[in-house]
Amino acid sequence: MPTVQRERLTVVHGDGAWLTTSTGDRLLDGTAGLWHANIGHGRQRLADAARAQMTSLETYHVFGRSANEPALRLADRLAEMVPVAGSKIFLTSGGSDSIEAACKLARLHWQLEGRPQKRIVVSRERAYHGLHAFGTSIGGLTYNRTGYGTSSLVPECARIPTHGLDGAIEVMEQIGCENIAAIITEPVLGTGGVHGPEQGYLEGLEEFARANDILLIIDEVITGFGRTGRMFASERWQLSPDIMTMAKGITSGYAPLGGIAVAPRVADRFFTGKDAPIFRHGLTYSGHATACAVAEANIDVIVDEALVTRAAKLEEVLVSEVGSLRTHPLVREVRAGCGLLAGVELNADADAAAVADLCSESGLMTRVIHGNTLQISPPFVVTEPEIELLAATMRSALDHYSTARVAPVIP
Ligand code: PMP
Repeated sequence: MPTVQRERLTVVHGDGAWLTTSTGDRLLDGTAGLWHANIGHGRQRLADAARAQMTSLETYHVFGRSANEPALRLADRLAEMVPVAGSKIFLTSGGSDSIEAACKLARLHWQLEGRPQKRIVVSRERAYHGLHAFGTSIGGLTYNRTGYGTSSLVPECARIPTHGLDGAIEVMEQIGCENIAAIITEPVLGTGGVHGPEQGYLEGLEEFARANDILLIIDEVITGFGRTGRMFASERWQLSPDIMTMAKGITSGYAPLGGIAVAPRVADRFFTGKDAPIFRHGLTYSGHATACAVAEANIDVIVDEALVTRAAKLEEVLVSEVGSLRTHPLVREVRAGCGLLAGVELNADADAAAVADLCSESGLMTRVIHGNTLQISPPFVVTEPEIELLAATMRSALDHYSTARVAPVIP
C-alpha cells in the first residue's frame, strides 16, 4: 500500500502502445501495464475471440472427466511451443496461481519418489514470484514477506544470493541438497529491479540442480511469450526447466490466465492409468474456456505479426536510447539488453516516484520497482520513434526533477 496519497491515474482506453486517461491525457505505455500488454492494447481480434467463445460457452471446468475445447487446444499448442520437451500443461488463473502449483508439485514429486525430506524451495534474493502464500514465502523482497507469522508463511523456503554462483552453491550445500525440492528463478529478475543474469549463473544453477537431484523451476511469468526476444527466455539461456510457469503474455492481459509446463520426469507418473497418483490441486477457472480462446488468438497475433522477432530487433534500440540516460547525474545504473526490458536505477537520494509522476505529466507511463528503479517494458508493437520519445521524456523528467530540487526558495 502506498503511504503517500498520489493522484489516481484512471486509464479508460488503450490502442497499441498508447493509453488514454479519464482526464483525456494520452500516455505512452512504457511498462505494458504490469509487464503484460505484449501485443498492445485494443485488439479487435482478441475481443472477437472472446465474444465468439462466450456466446457459445463461457467456460466449463476441467476437473475429473470434464474439459472444454479451447483449454484442450491451448494445452496442445503450448506443449509444442514451450522449451520443456514432452511436457504436460496445467492451466491456472494467473502468475501467483502458477507459482503455487509449481511449488506444491515439486514437493509432491519428492514425496512420491520416496524422498519426503526434500521439501525446501530455494529462490533468489530480490526475486518476485507473486503474492499467494508460496509466492510470498519464496519472494526475495523482504518487505513483501514480513508480517504474516513468526517465520515464513510457508515453512521450508530458503534464499540464495542473486549474483555469484559460488555463493549460491555454498548456501545450498549448507542447507543440504537432500533437503531441497527445487530451485526457482526468474531468468531476468523483474520486479526486483530488472537484473539480467550474470554470465553462466543460470546455466550453473541448472547444472547444480541436475547433479544434485533438485528440480529446476523457471518462472517465465514476465519473460514468456517474447519479452526477451525469444518466445521463452529459457531458450535464450538454453535452460531445460522441469517446471516452467507462465501468465501475463499468455493472453497479453486480455483475460486472466496462467499455466505451468511440466517435464515428463515429473508429470508422467500422473498419467499411468487408474492407480496413478492424483495432484489434488486445481482452480474453478483453471483452463477457463474464454480465457483460453483469447490466449489462442493472442498467440496467433504474436506469430502472424512476428512480434518476437520485433522485440529482439528493438532490444538494440532500447539499449542505445535508454542506455543514453546512464550519463544523467541522477542515474545510478541503467540495466538493459534482455529484449524489451530495462530498469533505470536512480541515485538513492532521488525520489523515483516523483520522477515517474513527472514522466506521466509529460505523456509517459512508467512506475517504480524495487531499488529506486523505473520500469521500462513497452508493448512489442512500440516503434523506434516511440522508444526515442520514451527515453527523451524520461530524460526531461529527470532534468525537471533536478531543477525543481535545487530551485531556490523565493521568500
Ligand atoms: N512471477 C513473476 C516473475 C511475476 O512478475 C509475477 C507478477 N508480476 C508473478 C509471478 C505473479 O503473477 P500474478 O500477479 O499474475 O499473480
